Amino acid sequence: MAEPMIIDGKVVAASVTDEISARAQRLEQEAGVKPGLAVVLVGEDPASQVYVKSKGRMAEKCGFNSIQHTLPVETSEEDVLRLVGELNNDSAVHGILVQLPLPKHIDEGKVLQLIKPEKDVDGFHPVNVGLLGAGQTDRALVPCTPAGSVLLAKRALGADLSGKNAVVIGRSNIVGKPVAQLLLQENCTVTIAHSRTVDLPGVVRGADIVVAAVGRPNFVKGDWIKEGATVIDVGINRIPAPEKGEGKTRLVGDVDYAEAVERAGAITPVPGGVGPMTIAMLMANTLTAARRQAGLKDEAPLF
Ligand code: NAD
Repeated sequence: MAEPMIIDGKVVAASVTDEISARAQRLEQEAGVKPGLAVVLVGEDPASQVYVKSKGRMAEKCGFNSIQHTLPVETSEEDVLRLVGELNNDSAVHGILVQLPLPKHIDEGKVLQLIKPEKDVDGFHPVNVGLLGAGQTDRALVPCTPAGSVLLAKRALGADLSGKNAVVIGRSNIVGKPVAQLLLQENCTVTIAHSRTVDLPGVVRGADIVVAAVGRPNFVKGDWIKEGATVIDVGINRIPAPEKGEGKTRLVGDVDYAEAVERAGAITPVPGGVGPMTIAMLMANTLTAARRQAGLKDEAPLF
């Protein structure tokens, strides 16, 4: 079999953010609008701090205004809601992202639902969920990791995914379901598999496109993969790596990469596959939000 294509998410993400920077520059020159992204972090979760920092850095790199609100862990729900309300009304802020998870005393649903749907660059507001479900991707803001996953599949297979059999493993609201909706929008025949699916290997063997979003290290085995299939591995799992030294760890995906790479036509590695796409698509959403709020049409799709 021909060598599989290793889909380099870092390279694709860089090409996306280059394009976003160019588009943002044009938007500012032509309409005087500089996209603004506000990120709200409550507490000191180290992983969240890293994510928020890289989102801010990337926003600046794209030529956006980057606004960061870091609040102490004991901040009341009322104060978080008040801040979101202020950001909703701030015309220099086009995108609002509240970093999850929030401390336990704050109702995440309440906070996320307060964000104006047109500023909801994470795409988690029920209005955006509904628009995506109704196939109105021209009006929705689409969740970033799912959008990035589908963009990588298109990099491997070309822009037209019509008629492909796609199997999405996982039905979470943040990954599995929106990925499935997007693939349906691309005219794939979509199966959503999950923890109650009977004969998962058999289901996956029928797939031209496999998207794994399970949260279990090396869960999808090589002999589940149809020869030549495109494999998009969303999973990020940290496992012990004693070979690197005592107490060391490494990241692996939900797909057993070493096995799957022997059969796939194209495959994303972990790390360096879907991971880098999330922030890139957040930038894309922020630009889209800024254009729409300025009454401008969306630009051509990013593929
Ligand atoms: P989740 O735990 O919310 O959902 C997991 C899904 O897997 C569930 O729908 C469940 O039905 C399914 N599942 C569990 N066990 C199964 C089994 N034995 N057989 C078949 N299906 C099974 O997880 P999530 O939030 O959707 O995230 C999935 C993975 O993607 C995680 O590894 C997460 O770290 C990763 N992730 C990556 C990014 C990124 O790359 N930026 C973003 C979000 C999530």
